[in-house]
Amino acid sequence: MGEHGSRLAGRGSGEPRRLTILGATGSIGKSTLDVVRRGGDAYRLVAVTANRNAEELAAVARDGKVEVAAVGDASQYRVLKEALSGSGIIAAAGPDGLIEAAARSADWTMAAISGAAGLAPTWEAIRQGKTIAIANKECLVAAGQAFMQHAAACRATVLPVDSEHSAAFQALDASGPESIEKIVLTASGGPFRQHSREALAVATPAEALKHPNWSMGAKVTIDSATLMNKGLELIEAMHLFAVRPEQLDVVVHPQSIIHSLVYYRDGSVLAQMGTPDMRTPIAYSLSWPLRVDTPVARLDLVAVGRLTFEAPDPRRFPALELARRAMATGGTACTVLNAANEVAVEAFLAGRLSFPGIAELVERTLGEFAHERLSGAPADVAGALAIDGEARDLAYGLLSRMR
Ligand code: NAD
Ligand code: MG
Repeated sequence: MGEHGSRLAGRGSGEPRRLTILGATGSIGKSTLDVVRRGGDAYRLVAVTANRNAEELAAVARDGKVEVAAVGDASQYRVLKEALSGSGIIAAAGPDGLIEAAARSADWTMAAISGAAGLAPTWEAIRQGKTIAIANKECLVAAGQAFMQHAAACRATVLPVDSEHSAAFQALDASGPESIEKIVLTASGGPFRQHSREALAVATPAEALKHPNWSMGAKVTIDSATLMNKGLELIEAMHLFAVRPEQLDVVVHPQSIIHSLVYYRDGSVLAQMGTPDMRTPIAYSLSWPLRVDTPVARLDLVAVGRLTFEAPDPRRFPALELARRAMATGGTACTVLNAANEVAVEAFLAGRLSFPGIAELVERTLGEFAHERLSGAPADVAGALAIDGEARDLAYGLLSRMR
């Protein structure tokens, strides 16, 4: 039965759990595959998706004997089809292909596409009314209210994968939401934690991509360097845990051992710890409310020696405050923040924007976005993508004038 089988036996019919991975070729996708493979025949992979990497996706699909494999980039359809020939696996492509994969009946879906590109497939997976493990935080940033309402209406279970949110989820006790005073997310501080403003002004993509503690996809790694990631995570936490913005805080903790803390009204604080390895929160989203074995390095507190904490510096890392402002503004402000940030990160990676320019472009986009379009949070994916598109156009226009 594989390492997870005996642990998970009895949770249902005895049939393997049907799993789908959206974004299977990415950092989270690969870690998910690693966790899933250890479960042997306790699980059955149903559908996998990627963007362009058709060959790699086909290998994953064949290995997992999936039913459907889909690439987001339609120009890769023929490569995928060819690579899957004779396997009996359905090849799909383009936005509809991603939807087809997400709609395939699965008990558990890992939403691990990066960015707003994940909104529509994740929404479709939720429609099934099963369990959705959300790594793709941009869904909750761009349309958090709509996603949580959609999940409730479909009776889907939303489980966090982001390490901080998994930590807070694990530190929630049985006392209920009215017992929570606040939730504090930890931040590593990223590669530029000790950089001066002068050093930040000339920071390169290669430097920003070297995260001290976590190995992740490019977008989230740059977000970690600007601290926008922590801002996005505040918004994510607000929706996941139904808390008010003022109940959320951030503390910089460079060792990334404590992943989040929940403060209770009686003065008690519960935190979750572990070595920084995404396979722990991924495994928890898969096995919840049980736990399964993972090979992650065990926490050795003596070897770590010291856990340190500091306040984030808003002058050097203004992105965190921008996210807070968008959260307070509400309506579509978080959708605009997310879209502008995606444009800015892409431009920075392409060498077309300085590191401080990322937050600057996001701030300008938020400032210039038509005021009347800021009210009323998006009701669904189409509404969120319409605002996302408008915000991107505006951000591209501003970007062309920033150099
Ligand atoms: P990644 O860039 O490594 O992988 C992204 C995946 O999405 C790939 O499979 C890629 O093919 C696919 N994809 C990208 N653009 C697409 C598009 N337009 N259409 C269809 N598919 C597309 O990213 P990642 O680091 O695995 O992160 C995935 C999500 O998880 C992000 O939202 C990120 O913020 C979140 N997250 C990641 C980590 C981490 O440790 N990597 C931790 C917490 C949260
Ligand atoms: Mg995180």
